[in-house]
Amino acid sequence: MYCRNCGKEVNEQAVACPACGVPPLAEKKFCNNCGVETAPNQALCTQCGVSLTAGSSESKNKMAAGLLAIFLGGLGIHKFYLGYNKEGVIMLAVSLGGGLVTCGLASAVIAIIALIEGVIYLTKSDQEFEQIYVQNQKGWF
Ligand SMILES: [Zn+2]
Ligand SMILES: [Zn+2]
Repeated sequence: MYCRNCGKEVNEQAVACPACGVPPLAEKKFCNNCGVETAPNQALCTQCGVSLTAGSSESKNKMAAGLLAIFLGGLGIHKFYLGYNKEGVIMLAVSLGGGLVTCGLASAVIAIIALIEGVIYLTKSDQEFEQIYVQNQKGWF
């Protein structure tokens, strides 16, 4: 693919462009598929037809979701982060409400579930994570 900041060809897996040091998909000055110059708010590349809005900023960060689950999972924060509001509310309600009536037992169970989910997130590859949790919106585990 091509760096969207400087238009140089970069490795598909590159986290930063070797030529300019910017994450290759962070800017919008060049098409990442063919390297032609693009306008910042262009939705499609006029040269190769590839979508210029997909892939970069919208995609959820696996690492962030995993760490949120592990450290703040008892509150369902990682669910909200991934856009699973229903699951997030359930976790929060069980953890706080259920925790009160069970002397913290329900909170501990939720925290363990979240911890397991966080570990699962982190063991997935970026592509798997994207497909399972961002595109298919798998709510649990
Ligand atoms: Zn660059
Ligand atoms: Zn293009």
